[in-house]
Amino acid sequence: MKYLATEYVQIDLDNEVWECRTCDHTLGSARENYKIFTKIYNRNPQEIHRPKLDPTKYEFTFSPNPKVCAIYEFYCPNCGTMMDVEYTVPGALPLHDFELDIDALKEKMQGRTPVVDAGEGVDTTQALREGAHDHSCSHDKNYGGQR
Ligand SMILES: [Zn+2]
Repeated sequence: MKYLATEYVQIDLDNEVWECRTCDHTLGSARENYKIFTKIYNRNPQEIHRPKLDPTKYEFTFSPNPKVCAIYEFYCPNCGTMMDVEYTVPGALPLHDFELDIDALKEKMQGRTPVVDAGEGVDTTQALREGAHDHSCSHDKNYGGQR
């Protein structure tokens, strides 16, 4: 069963691995920080936030100083989808910003209908309606049996 953890990564609970939601590429153990399995682009923050003042004239230009600020971009090593962006200090390890209890998650998800990633432009409400009512109940009759 797949657990959709973020917009760009999912967990294959059977194999306990992180996967890319765009291409299903296996990243690595779900018990680790998924960011360590991605391609990391260590960006110069001044490329992203250009100086507002002339840096030859002013020390402070409203642009982050690369000596104290780094921007990490995390990409799927297979398809290149950007999975996250992190502002940090130069040389820091990627932030382990969420850690899921895999054993508790597996127990919680047992017997549940997996959420399907329908993709862009797909009417997910149809799938939700069908999944939500797989039994006969009294309010079905109130709508003339239309569902
Ligand atoms: Zn991918």
